[in-house]
Amino acid sequence: MRLIFIGPPGAGKGTQAAKIVDRYRIAHLSTGDMLRAARDAKTPIGLKADEYMSKGELVPDDVIIEIIRERLRDPDCGGGYLLDGFPRTLGQAEALDAMLAASGTPLDIVLELRVPEEELFQRLSRRGRADDKPEVIRQRLVAYRNQTEPLLQYYQGKNLLRSVEGVGTVEEIFERLVKVLDSVA
Ligand code: ADP
Repeated sequence: MRLIFIGPPGAGKGTQAAKIVDRYRIAHLSTGDMLRAARDAKTPIGLKADEYMSKGELVPDDVIIEIIRERLRDPDCGGGYLLDGFPRTLGQAEALDAMLAASGTPLDIVLELRVPEEELFQRLSRRGRADDKPEVIRQRLVAYRNQTEPLLQYYQGKNLLRSVEGVGTVEEIFERLVKVLDSVA
């Protein structure tokens, strides 16, 4: 199974992603985790990415597309994967389409986790990660609305989009996701 998991910052995507990859035995590709690891290791890409991450802005498409292109070549991706945090712009989505078309490995589904905006801001304010300062949170929500939300229509147009409500307990939400995933797996 190859899937994209989309949702705003604070939606609980990371928590649910971990449960999904465990259940379906697929690789978890989190671009946020990859970029934070690169930043902490102080690689050139990591240091460049941090200039954007610390402001709540998206890192440039060419940087993240190359990271994903390389990661998708790893053997563990052959058994399927969940993309968490990528694509986040139309340019990234188009680049991904081109890669997957070239390798003859199309996506099975794009899952959206929906959470009302007031709830997101509250959840993020409680979390306390370095990029969870109020101005940075606001900027991440703006980036989501302006740059990532258009992807929902894009994938709807390809008949790949399924949406699930992200409000409730972790287990309730997971059950909703599993119901949808089992219908395509
Ligand atoms: P969140 O979903 O909570 O905003 P992530 O951990 O997914 O956080 O990402 C943290 C930061 O990493 C983003 O705010 C952005 O700066 C950068 N980032 C992650 N994925 C991408 C991507 N696909 N394109 C551009 N920037 C990205």
